[in-house]
Amino acid sequence: MTGDEVAPEQAQRSAAQPSAGRPLVDRHGRIHRDLRISLTDRCSLRCTYCMPAEGVPWLPGPTLLRTDELIRLARIAVDLGVEEIRLTGGEPLLRPDAVDVVARLTALRSPALPHGPEISLTTNALRLPALAQPLVDAGLTRVNISLDTLRRDRFRELTRRDRLADTLAGIAAADAAGLAPIKINAVAMRGVNEDELVDLVRFASRRGYEMRFIEQMPLDAGHVWSRKAMVTGPEIIETLSAVFALQPVGARGSAPAERWIVDGGPSTVGVIASVTQPFCGACDRIRLTADGQLRSCLFARTETDLRTPLRDGSDDAAIAAAMRRCLEGKLPGHGIDDPRFLQPDRPMSAIGG
Ligand code: SAM
Ligand code: SF4
Repeated sequence: MTGDEVAPEQAQRSAAQPSAGRPLVDRHGRIHRDLRISLTDRCSLRCTYCMPAEGVPWLPGPTLLRTDELIRLARIAVDLGVEEIRLTGGEPLLRPDAVDVVARLTALRSPALPHGPEISLTTNALRLPALAQPLVDAGLTRVNISLDTLRRDRFRELTRRDRLADTLAGIAAADAAGLAPIKINAVAMRGVNEDELVDLVRFASRRGYEMRFIEQMPLDAGHVWSRKAMVTGPEIIETLSAVFALQPVGARGSAPAERWIVDGGPSTVGVIASVTQPFCGACDRIRLTADGQLRSCLFARTETDLRTPLRDGSDDAAIAAAMRRCLEGKLPGHGIDDPRFLQPDRPMSAIGG
């Protein structure tokens, strides 16, 4: 997982260029411009909705993509029209060379993207006090930070680590380094943090951040997700509307969050109602796991192996063709409501949320 043995990006281009200009389109006409890359499946927290207390068996080291491999895949994806790359995990900042990865992704260019892809990060913030400024210097501009509660005892229960103060320090460090916008993500859970929705919006609004609530999805390692435990998007809006004047922001395009202006602005709040109000019809996302498997959907039950062609000498065109094949199998929707729905084998932490 280190960045040695790296050839210059340009030198890695094979004679057979992936057909630049032809976008990554699936059978339903959706064009894919957003690539989520999991930098590692490891994590410093154990959020109940994501990982069991004892963690999960980590992906074996030799299967993890080296940095030169990861950058090569990102470059091929950018050649195929990807415009935005989000780094996630596990906890992406546990990857020792995360700052270098950001710098090298920021430097990617394609004829259609002369300024390079937009790079963003989803993190639990624990390493941001040390890394926020180096990340900004490397070209990062935006960050999403997970914070489900403002109460120390609850944070300890939810994440199984007593690290609320460190998360808050990480958020402050992101702000001080100039990362903007800062979005704060909370999974809304019945009987756990649903009484903090208003406090979380106030916390974010006062600091100029956007609070975003996420419906809990069936992606936990223990496969114990229950619809009843999920606080739904409409319930979240009902609770917030009792306290704030909420005005819809309008068309959201392919963005997962539906957004509202809070009390006339400038603050906004977002709700990601993936379960009750799926936005699959406008989905433009593909996901690369830390061990080099391409997934067309968070809930996909199949993956396309890119690590093997990366390591067997395949050229860029062959890898681009594998990326296209992955999208051929993309289903029109996640199907959580279908009685035959099966949770994917990988938990969220190993997919990359
Ligand atoms: N460790 C980083 C973090 O927590 O921000 C990045 C990875 S985490 C898997 C990415 C996002 O997925 C977080 O905002 C987290 O709250 C969310 N998440 C994890 N499990 C989830 C679940 N079962 N349902 C909904 N969101 C989930
Ligand atoms: Fe770690 Fe993020 Fe999963 Fe929490 S949600 S256990 S911080 S990967």
